[in-house]
Amino acid sequence: MSAEHGSPREACGVFGVYAPGRNVSPVVFDGLHALQHRGQESAGMAVTDGTTMIVVKDMGLVTQVFNEYKIASLVGHLAVGHTRYSTTGASSWRNAQPMYRHAGGTEFAVAHNGNLVNLDELEAAAGMLAGTVASDSDLMAELIARRAEEEVAGRGALQGALVTALLDVLPTLEGAFSLVLVDHRELVGVRDPNGFRPLCLGRLDDGWVLASETPALDIVGAHFVREVEPGELVVIGPDGCQSYYPWGAARAQPKLCLFEFVYLARPDSRLYGQELHGARVRMGELLAEQAPVAADMVCGVPDSGLPAAEGYSRRSGVPFGHALVKNRYIGRTFIDPDPGQRVHGVRRKLNPLRDAVAGKRLVVVDDSIVRGTTTRAMVAMLREAGCREVHLRISSPPYRWPCYYGLDTGTRAELVAADLEVGEIRDYVGADSLAYLSLDALKRATGVPGAGFCDACLTGHYPVPVPHRSLQGVPEGTSSAPGTDRAVRGHAQHPAGGPPGSGAGHP
Ligand code: SF4
Repeated sequence: MSAEHGSPREACGVFGVYAPGRNVSPVVFDGLHALQHRGQESAGMAVTDGTTMIVVKDMGLVTQVFNEYKIASLVGHLAVGHTRYSTTGASSWRNAQPMYRHAGGTEFAVAHNGNLVNLDELEAAAGMLAGTVASDSDLMAELIARRAEEEVAGRGALQGALVTALLDVLPTLEGAFSLVLVDHRELVGVRDPNGFRPLCLGRLDDGWVLASETPALDIVGAHFVREVEPGELVVIGPDGCQSYYPWGAARAQPKLCLFEFVYLARPDSRLYGQELHGARVRMGELLAEQAPVAADMVCGVPDSGLPAAEGYSRRSGVPFGHALVKNRYIGRTFIDPDPGQRVHGVRRKLNPLRDAVAGKRLVVVDDSIVRGTTTRAMVAMLREAGCREVHLRISSPPYRWPCYYGLDTGTRAELVAADLEVGEIRDYVGADSLAYLSLDALKRATGVPGAGFCDACLTGHYPVPVPHRSLQGVPEGTSSAPGTDRAVRGHAQHPAGGPPGSGAGHP
């Protein structure tokens, strides 16, 4: 399902800029605004003029947190910014980013997209009591600060302390992290060795930009240079742009999140050299080949289901039309993380075009089904509007496993496809038919089928092992072993054990 009705929730957007002689806070504002879709809970930026660092962050959208007066008060040529959706840590001001630290006479700020999976081990190794830090990003900032402090104390120099600390701390981190950092001198970008989350490098006439997605570069007038490589640390400052590889070349194994292609990133984003709108249209074309059905009209769930619907219509010959109108002036369902609000959210945001759907056999294309409750509400809404048949077509395979690398999908027990087969899901959501795109076709549709992708939520094969206790209901020893999919699935339980369609486990 699209973001508006219960699909994987975005993790975060990060943005950084270095432009000597220029005041960059308006640039960060524009960059964050372009990345707003990646997180709507909080926004913030840290700006330095080389002497003083000011951090402004708060709950809300970018335009709610910043106005022209606040922007005017943020003066400096070096900055990082962040838009957040909480995936670890509470949805609260304390966890708004960037995270700021004063360390040994220097200051730095870090903005993080992703999730660490070895939080407990890191806390224990650092001698911290569990729960001392508010989130994985907070812990990361703390570890970097401690190491930078040691560095400054050891050699009595501030310059280079942040990068030295990063080179030591980064290899201890496990999981997903695309980072941007600033101290008073340099802008730093980091991508974990699997590159789960995107990060790209751009060039301004008078400086450099780092951003989660390429449209943020376009909007601030930067030229795309390249994606930051998995396992790369880039340092941008008075000495130019330099790369370091803290993990060594052997550890780098690209595993870009497949859902960035399916839904998360903007359609005008480019990943692995591909514009995502085109990839999503191809997903619909392949879906039409795999799962044709006699119908009168193909529609997409706005907005993220629209490109695949266009492709489905083109390949099947069934006319494309609009069946659902989205209220664009209400924030996403995700703004309220209370699951009880989600179903109500879909009714507030989507309304059927009654005359367009009455008496019709509809193909409804969406990008994924996660919990299923909102799909069910949407199908019921279409039937109430007079639809004769509703055939659901999903442009990704069944979402069976939770994501531990930066998306909030809830627990296994909340995933409708965790234990149910496709026919059971069809019955639960109340559709006449239901079909998913195969994993092989999805990878072909990206345009770069041989590229490295994470598909853990679809296959259960986690590229970086996740804590066993994180996999609710899964016996120890099976969390990351390839080929154990079915055995593991047999142990995940919906809380009430109810039959398909009972709603058990799908709040
Ligand atoms: S588990 Fe799924 S959502 Fe998470 S990073 Fe991997 S492909 Fe993306």
